[in-house]
Amino acid sequence: MDKFEELIEHLNKLSDENRELRIKELEDECVCPICPTFNQCAKDATENIFCINGKSICIETEKGCICPTCPFALEYRLGVLHNFYCRQGGELEQR
Ligand code: SF4
Ligand code: SF4
Repeated sequence: MDKFEELIEHLNKLSDENRELRIKELEDECVCPICPTFNQCAKDATENIFCINGKSICIETEKGCICPTCPFALEYRLGVLHNFYCRQGGELEQR
């Protein structure tokens, strides 16, 4: 089990409320909002951290993915084998 899988396992053990709070903290590191693929609909829907949350309901066109530059991705070794999480599904879904 790698570090990201451990994080997901930990999140899954939390109550809904605590899980939401922890994900909110992690969202601070997500660079999706400054990615060219991110759009107004996703902003209005406060979507991000797609590597955990899975596909966007807003984003339909891929215009580049900056996940490999994200501090969260660097810490959890994401964004290299898989990316475009907003379109292709979360990290675990893509594995
Ligand atoms: S890896 Fe991508 S989706 Fe995940 S937090 Fe970073 S920028 Fe957001
Ligand atoms: S998952 Fe990748 S492509 Fe999608 S918004 Fe985030 S950085 Fe951009």
